[in-house]
Amino acid sequence: MTNVIQNALIVGGGFSGMSAAIELRKQGIAVDLVELDPEWRSYGAGISIGGPTLRAFRTLGVLERYLEQGYACDGVEIRSSDGHLLAELPTPRIAGHDVPGSGAVMRPVLAKILAEQTRALGTQVRLGCSVASFLQDAEGVEVRFTDGSTKRYDLVIGSDGLFSAMRQMLLPDAPKPRYSGQGVWRAVLPRPNHIVRTMLWVGPKTKVGLNPVSQDEMYLFVNEDKPTNERVPPEQFLSLLQQLLAPFSAPDVRQASDMLSADSLIVYRPLEGLLVQQPWYVGRVVLIGDAVHATTPHLASGAGIGIEDAIVLADELAKASSVPAALQAFQSRRWERCRMVVHNSARLGEIEMAGGDKAEHARIMRESFQALCEPI
Ligand SMILES: Cc1cc2nc3c(=O)[nH]c(=O)nc-3n(C[C@H](O)[C@H](O)[C@H](O)COP(=O)(O)OP(=O)(O)OC[C@H]3O[C@@H](n4cnc5c(N)ncnc54)[C@H](O)[C@@H]3O)c2cc1C
Repeated sequence: MTNVIQNALIVGGGFSGMSAAIELRKQGIAVDLVELDPEWRSYGAGISIGGPTLRAFRTLGVLERYLEQGYACDGVEIRSSDGHLLAELPTPRIAGHDVPGSGAVMRPVLAKILAEQTRALGTQVRLGCSVASFLQDAEGVEVRFTDGSTKRYDLVIGSDGLFSAMRQMLLPDAPKPRYSGQGVWRAVLPRPNHIVRTMLWVGPKTKVGLNPVSQDEMYLFVNEDKPTNERVPPEQFLSLLQQLLAPFSAPDVRQASDMLSADSLIVYRPLEGLLVQQPWYVGRVVLIGDAVHATTPHLASGAGIGIEDAIVLADELAKASSVPAALQAFQSRRWERCRMVVHNSARLGEIEMAGGDKAEHARIMRESFQALCEPI
């Protein structure tokens, strides 16, 4: 069957954009990808990967490399601040009986795996470049790039993240990202042998987690309530993070705190969310990933749903009889799942900040993970 597009431009080479490039190239579509960062860097510490995201990696053809270079495990332990086991959450093996149901990886490692697959399948990548403007008609989109060049495309995909310039050009009235009232600290540490899966310690208002990202390393994360999204000076990172860990007497948290040093990679990020109402496309320009649905990390699924967007978009383009039909079908398949993740993650954050109902928190977690296990 002939695809309804012959070529496509992807704007933004994050996890969503690279996944779109991989899936479109598999169908033989000519793909250009422009990425603003001349060095195509990926910032940050570890990223949690759930079963649905592992399933998506299998579709992208990168699961084996992920399993070699990242970490996969089963189940999550939830403990009190002094270390008593409160619950063990199962993580169903939805990527296949031979693949654990959960895991984590260093962001730059995942970015490198996806970038290698993107280039290997023949996407033309241009770094340090973006879209200056575009003009579309019924048959295509005329794009002018920031380097002055121009090219016509059958489809343009905006995957340029939370502060998307493509969203600003396409949907200028869309809401802006909103600060959630929480920030998250993350640090990379050596992995002691006995930390073999995700562990969470729940304090009255703060939550601490440890998550292996490879055989040698793990990442530590701590949520903190903060009234504003002000910048924290990096020279204060170590002492502020250790202060947040101080109320936790659990031996593994104490050990993690002691391992932190001035040389540790520590990152602080205020958490912002955004859900753009439908439509996510105008004519032949469509937005995916954080550009339309940026979630706080309470369900650790933001990257996963962006990657799924790419898979579903390519699938609908292969099946549809026209571009508008494909984009409408894409949006219909993605809306409820992405809305659910953004909404439920935000609600989990609100409950944590209010010191609210733990039963509601547990119910939302359980129902959200069940919903994410459904086929996309
Ligand atoms: C603190 C924190 C923790 C998180 N933890 C998890 C987790 O554990 N698990 C999980 O699944 N998700 C997590 N997420 C969410 C996840 O990081 C995002 O959902 C995901 O990175 C979105 O990918 P994206 O490709 O849509 O956007 P981005 O990752 O933002 O990528 C956008 C890309 O576009 C480029 N770009 C920007 N502007 C332009 C432009 N004008 N032109 C060209 N290129 C441009 C950028 O340089 C970047 O490469 C977390 C998020 C935060 C903030």
